[in-house]
Amino acid sequence: MDAEGLLADELFCFLEARRKEDFSYSHILSSMCTTPHPVAVKAHALFMETNLGDPGLFPGTVSLEDELIRWFADLYHEPSAGGCTTSGGTESNIQVLRFCKAAKKAKNPNIVVPASAHFSFEKACKMMDVEMRLAPLDHEYRMDVNAAGELIDKDTCCIVSVAGTTEYGMTDPIPELGKIAGQEDIHLHVDAAFGGYVLPFLKDAPKFDFSIPEVGSISVDPHKMGMGTIPSGVLMVRDEKVFCNLLVETPYLTVKQAYSLTGTRPGASVAAAYAVSRYFGTKGYTSLVTGCMENTRRLIEGMEAFGVRRKVTPDVNVATFDHVDVPKPWIVSYTRKGDLRIVCMPHVSRDVIESFLADFGEFHVP
Ligand code: PLP
Repeated sequence: MDAEGLLADELFCFLEARRKEDFSYSHILSSMCTTPHPVAVKAHALFMETNLGDPGLFPGTVSLEDELIRWFADLYHEPSAGGCTTSGGTESNIQVLRFCKAAKKAKNPNIVVPASAHFSFEKACKMMDVEMRLAPLDHEYRMDVNAAGELIDKDTCCIVSVAGTTEYGMTDPIPELGKIAGQEDIHLHVDAAFGGYVLPFLKDAPKFDFSIPEVGSISVDPHKMGMGTIPSGVLMVRDEKVFCNLLVETPYLTVKQAYSLTGTRPGASVAAAYAVSRYFGTKGYTSLVTGCMENTRRLIEGMEAFGVRRKVTPDVNVATFDHVDVPKPWIVSYTRKGDLRIVCMPHVSRDVIESFLADFGEFHVP
């Protein structure tokens, strides 16, 4: 570090140059994040210095977190559900594993997850020394319920299902998994990090929420389809008692106990998530999500017109195709199986899709 500080003008000149080295969302077709809504950005700036890790100091910010949780409780059909905010899907999934493991008290605990599960479960299992049992998928990339049932034993502390998988945009058969979870008295978690802001706003979407009686927890991320700011996750639980096993003493804070994983917790991204949810309302999200799904269908139709087959018809705005290269400067990703994957986020507008298809058509000479 230099002894002399830099002048702010000079410093920001440098920072802006570095920022220009980043890719712009205008050509990013691979991300589950997007440009946050201006309302979210403004609210984030207003709450920049708030710390939910010491809640007694920031009662106004805490009330926004509470209201955000109430909003999700209603949206997910269980008004008495509780929850908390997190930094995103990974932290939410880690917290679920922590309370499931603590409640089960098995010597060698295991969880059953679909082969499509996000890699955050692998991190969580390695961290907590829990065995991860992978259930195979059916021909539509949904968890095979019978295979999942066969993997369960007396040490299984959680069944994980996904609503809107990261790679193929599919939703597992959650009502059927609920039956197994209920019979065996095992916690059923729904990872709706992506789909939790999509499925509630679509007609005829697969069921995934607390209206399925056995669903015990749901994770959902405002920093993905919620158009909030990074980092922002929400972990909803049917019964807040699950957090009791995670409580630790916090003697020098304004509260005497905490169950969160992180200590200092941003209030800014919580205020942003709250603000954007109030600004959009369910009608605003319905229109946003309907537009993303229309763009997804247009992309699939356009690619199939070039002879590139879809892998599956997705439940959410993630389109996948047989492996094919795409022209620069478009940034796409490929699944573990090597299939082309494009996420039709809000920044991937109809114009962006048409422009991508035109470039692809020129590049892809059969
Ligand atoms: N779960 C699912 C289904 C996801 O798609 C993702 C990320 O894409 C995560 C969890 C992890 O979320 P984060 O990267 O915000 O920790």
